[in-house]
Amino acid sequence: MTVVHDLASVLPSESILVDGTSAYLADETEGRGFRGRADAVVLPSTADEVARVLAWCYEHDVPLIPRGGGTGYAGGAVPLDGGVVLGLERMARVRSFDPLLWRMCVEAGVTTATVRRLARENGLQFPPDPGASEQSQIGGNIATNAGGPHAFKNGVTGAWVTGLEAVVPPGEIVTVGGPIRKDVAGYDLKSLLIGSEGTLGIITAAWLRLLPAPEAAFPVAAFYAGVAEGCGAIQRVMGSGLQVAALEYLDGPTLGAAGGSFPEGLPDGAGFLVLAEADGSAEGAEGLRSELLDVLSQEALSVRAPTEAATIAALWRWREGVSIAVGAQRGGKVSEDIVVPLDRLQEAIEGTLEIGERHGLPTCSWGHAGDGNLHSTFMVARDDEERLARAEAAADEVFELAVRLGGSISGEHGVGWMKRGQLARQWGPRAVELHAEIKRVFDPKGLLNPGKKIAAAEGEGFEPSRGLHP
Ligand SMILES: Cc1cc2nc3c(=O)[nH]c(=O)nc-3n(C[C@H](O)[C@H](O)[C@H](O)COP(=O)(O)OP(=O)(O)OC[C@H]3O[C@@H](n4cnc5c(N)ncnc54)[C@H](O)[C@@H]3O)c2cc1C
Repeated sequence: MTVVHDLASVLPSESILVDGTSAYLADETEGRGFRGRADAVVLPSTADEVARVLAWCYEHDVPLIPRGGGTGYAGGAVPLDGGVVLGLERMARVRSFDPLLWRMCVEAGVTTATVRRLARENGLQFPPDPGASEQSQIGGNIATNAGGPHAFKNGVTGAWVTGLEAVVPPGEIVTVGGPIRKDVAGYDLKSLLIGSEGTLGIITAAWLRLLPAPEAAFPVAAFYAGVAEGCGAIQRVMGSGLQVAALEYLDGPTLGAAGGSFPEGLPDGAGFLVLAEADGSAEGAEGLRSELLDVLSQEALSVRAPTEAATIAALWRWREGVSIAVGAQRGGKVSEDIVVPLDRLQEAIEGTLEIGERHGLPTCSWGHAGDGNLHSTFMVARDDEERLARAEAAADEVFELAVRLGGSISGEHGVGWMKRGQLARQWGPRAVELHAEIKRVFDPKGLLNPGKKIAAAEGEGFEPSRGLHP
């Protein structure tokens, strides 16, 4: 009969969602009018249940779409045209935590914030800090290889994963790595799964590496008149050899959208913000902060360098809310996350503004300056089909800009559905072919998250619903 009915033969009834399935058909790209359709939504509680679902899908040729917290910006967790959405939220156990050995093993559905909180409460740090941490899951972070402001010093999520448990076609649980800090015994399957966006396997648990938390961390926020002055300051921070923990930027229009809630207000004439953080031992962080103040003060309109915990927390809270504030301007946004070599950052920021102006769209960018990672963004109302189409065309030009500047179409959000077909722009034919071959080895029937990541531009025959549906 129906997929839901048949799945009851392999799963307990409480693992099959009957009501409230509509929340599992979209992610953050709903603001771009993107929503899918599924035949069933399942919420397994164990890796064994995940394996049974995948085995059933393989036997019946039904697509399976893994889903974490649904905070993705690439449409990766959205089912295109039917299939089974598999949410990991009930796999939320901490399997082991050894603070004295700086490591933990968690199930995929544990939220990013829980991992970070648990580490912090024990004097440790899980450095990756993607913005939607209360909602996103560690499995989703690994599947997208998520970044965040502090990836600058410590690297993206993948750098903190020492092992994975995953379910791979046709429905088997495999383990690669574990609670070990080094492992070169085989091909690096762990790294293949990291960032694979649910197209190679379903991550069910991860062993994570942690760090002792820095004793102190001080942000320095420096405002400049424009892009040239701000990018000059970023280059000076790098050139001075200051090992800051985070090195962020916001351009003028982003400040226009989000600046209203900046703690203590913006200075007059602010057209660019550089936000850096000095961390380390109490003495080391203080020393680095003072050097940072020297470097960032050159050509700055104003510099704020709070030292009180509450003010520092307010500043980072404000930074976390930037994406939402920008989205609130028009009710929706088309936001990409290109990467360019650091010496091309100014061109990428100015290029984004030029593209938006040409398409007649309110445009801005902000992001992880130290990593050359921009969130090039076009602000549009989510029900304005005509402007949405223009914004998608503008985003396409942003990808072209990134590649022309020697960069990448994605630094942290992944490819998902939204950037399908763009890989061929970045790589030569053989590199693209190798991706397809790897996909076939893991998933010979092509049932794991079809149409995503390495799919061709036309989506390999899938045409999901566009526009908002209830
Ligand atoms: C306000 C806001 C700020 C953000 N800031 C950042 C940021 O600073 N840096 C950043 O990198 N991202 C950021 N993001 C994007 C998003 O939070 C990340 O991409 C995050 O890693 C997605 O995790 P998720 O659990 O929500 O995954 P989902 O959105 O549910 O899924 C993302 C992809 O991973 C796959 N997937 C999910 N779980 C699994 C699993 N267990 N096994 C296999 N595949 C799986 C899905 O199929 C999909 O392809 C932000 C989003 C928001 C809304």
